Amino acid sequence: MKIPSPDRSGGEEGISGTEPIIINLDKILVGENLDIVEHAYIQIENGVITDIENTWSHDGISLGGIATPLPVNAHVHLNDYVVPEACIGLDLASFVGSKGIKLPLTRLNRHYFLDKPLKESLNTYYSVADFQEHKDYCRENKELVERTGAIYLGFSRPSNPLDPAEYWEAARLCGGIGVSNPLRLPPHVMEELHRISQQYPVSAHVSETEKMEERGSLHYLLNYRIKMTSIVHGVFLKRWELRILAEENIPLVVCPRSNIWFVGRTADIPYALTEGVTIAIGTDNAGCFHPDIFAEMELLFTIFRNSIDPYEIVRMAFINGYIAVGIKPRHIDTGQPANILILREPRLARHTWNVYGSIIRRARYCDKIILRGKSIVKSFN
Ligand SMILES: [Zn+2]
Repeated sequence: MKIPSPDRSGGEEGISGTEPIIINLDKILVGENLDIVEHAYIQIENGVITDIENTWSHDGISLGGIATPLPVNAHVHLNDYVVPEACIGLDLASFVGSKGIKLPLTRLNRHYFLDKPLKESLNTYYSVADFQEHKDYCRENKELVERTGAIYLGFSRPSNPLDPAEYWEAARLCGGIGVSNPLRLPPHVMEELHRISQQYPVSAHVSETEKMEERGSLHYLLNYRIKMTSIVHGVFLKRWELRILAEENIPLVVCPRSNIWFVGRTADIPYALTEGVTIAIGTDNAGCFHPDIFAEMELLFTIFRNSIDPYEIVRMAFINGYIAVGIKPRHIDTGQPANILILREPRLARHTWNVYGSIIRRARYCDKIILRGKSIVKSFN
């Protein structure tokens, strides 16, 4: 068994053999509740966690650091990574609206987009939900993203938004449907989306602007009984509407940097949490905001430092993200496949006064090791 040196930038290697691997860690976030277990080891056999003990093992590799589940980026638009900062100087409608410049730009500038910074960010995720504007890009994007180790989930749409058959085609090609603005869809399409949502994940931008809120974007979806895997943004949702999300079990994906940039505020997240809404985090337009979920977590914490417990923000990335893309959380526990992020920063792992707070503040900058299932270990600075 061999683990690459954590100090080697960009290292990538398989774990050979079937003998158990034991890793000694300063802290482990265990279970769906992300309970902090200190000075402990994780044993992995054939890619599955077979033991977690509250001590260090003489047979273990002493990596130290904090082990967390892999985060999920619950909402990103990867296409615009090819036109960096094209959003500057434009409002939301001029950039991403139906007559905005983004759609033609991402057709005209189609080229290989997976550079090193993007690869390193994607590499950290268990899964990435790409709101894919061009359904014919899904296959290639999936291949590129999955080279980094992250699982690609495409939420796409037809080129003709009025053609119900093309929605089925988009769902089959990409895996799910991502509705840009439900209010633009006629009733016959909504009716078809209801049927599609019984078989495929469906997500939608909701109340990202005041206009979408005034026109009832959430209620239009609910009235057609579309089974929503998640809704995205919800910036202007009223408190009674946030209660509906909790009652209907619909996760809300927030994108703090994008929401602040384009509309100057975020959803009423503290209230949504008190109502029990499942909140996850996305990074939205990749050309405007590098898809780094730790940057989003830090901003959320800065905005809501007096009203949201840092634990809740950590939970949004490491547990709720899975729920918001329709998959079961891959938390760290005995019997679970080994999908583990190790944050290797002694100051964070050993001297912190608030573990969840330090993860939010420091995870972005520290060395990381990523373990995925049976055979892959990666490390980079
Ligand atoms: Zn979006």
